[in-house]
Amino acid sequence: MSIIVVGGGLIGSAVAFTLRDAGLEVEVLDAHLPGAGWRAAAGLLTPDGERLAGTPLHASALESLNLWPEFARSLEAHSGQSVHLRTGVFRLGPVPEVGEGPHGLTRCTPGEGRLHPASVVSAALTGVRVTRARVLALRPDRRGVSLQTDAGDRGGRLVVLATGAWSSAFGLDIRPVQGQALLLEGGNDHPAVYGTRRRGHGPHGYALGRPDGLYVGATARLSASVQPDSWARRWLQGAARTLAPTCSGHAVLSQLVGLRPVTPDGLPLVGPHPTLPGVVVATGHGRHGALLAPLTARQVLALVRQALPEAA
Ligand SMILES: Cc1cc2nc3c(=O)[nH]c(=O)nc-3n(C[C@H](O)[C@H](O)[C@H](O)COP(=O)(O)OP(=O)(O)OC[C@H]3O[C@@H](n4cnc5c(N)ncnc54)[C@H](O)[C@@H]3O)c2cc1C
Repeated sequence: MSIIVVGGGLIGSAVAFTLRDAGLEVEVLDAHLPGAGWRAAAGLLTPDGERLAGTPLHASALESLNLWPEFARSLEAHSGQSVHLRTGVFRLGPVPEVGEGPHGLTRCTPGEGRLHPASVVSAALTGVRVTRARVLALRPDRRGVSLQTDAGDRGGRLVVLATGAWSSAFGLDIRPVQGQALLLEGGNDHPAVYGTRRRGHGPHGYALGRPDGLYVGATARLSASVQPDSWARRWLQGAARTLAPTCSGHAVLSQLVGLRPVTPDGLPLVGPHPTLPGVVVATGHGRHGALLAPLTARQVLALVRQALPEAA
């Protein structure tokens, strides 16, 4: 029996890739739910841009940022696909402690970067068995865990729960925080730019060029709605005018909506499930799932090796 990863988003796909790379048999079950975080995520790898310094997440964020170059190389070598990792993120307006970048922008912490989340998921799942199914219930049994799904019952030696904003269905304290973003035509080479949060220095948003267009993000609202709305669109168009004035009039290709999985203390949940033996949890990454994916995958591999000594 395989290890079953429930959820093939940023976290589930990175976990599946890492377990498979370690020689374990893995299957991913994903329900293709609208509002999956990875489909809307910008792909910024920015502990500084996200102001994590001084928070309990900072050390993990830096550790994971350092893992990204090697993780991206492995994904690309394995899949033959680029994940579009690039370094260099800038901030609008003067920031005294950092150096000058192009167009009068100031550079954030060295090493910060960005990638294309959908390419990461696609590369990580290359060669992994992925089944479209929604897991409805998990029941530990003598052989491992049995899974009730909308596509029939399954069994796994061990289950990794990477169900993002839908994790409360499995007894975990996770709330969905909706984020919206715009993808504009062109601007693929635009630098990654954060607005500053200080008064009079522009919006709290960010903009970056990606292979699929110019991404402008992002709103945040405690909501599970996956419907785009006109308020968010206006706010994002205002952010585009400040952060990427040369592209702000470009056609809107799509208005993205995603749900961030958020815990009460803002820290990810990575560890054994509190009540279900044989289930490892990897969720609650909030705004930082892309950034924290390689570290989380490494942590899950260690947990799997503890649970299945023959996997060590
Ligand atoms: C607008 C926006 C911008 C963001 N920008 C960034 C960024 O720049 N950098 C960054 O680090 N993070 C960013 N994030 C956060 C990031 O997207 C999330 O932290 C990340 O997606 C969480 O990964 P995940 O795998 O836990 O969840 P998801 O990516 O949401 O994936 C969960 C998957 O589980 C599946 N699923 C759920 N329930 C079930 C079930 N019962 N059975 C089967 N499958 C199921 C879903 O179909 C989905 O594919 C952003 C988020 C948003 C919304």
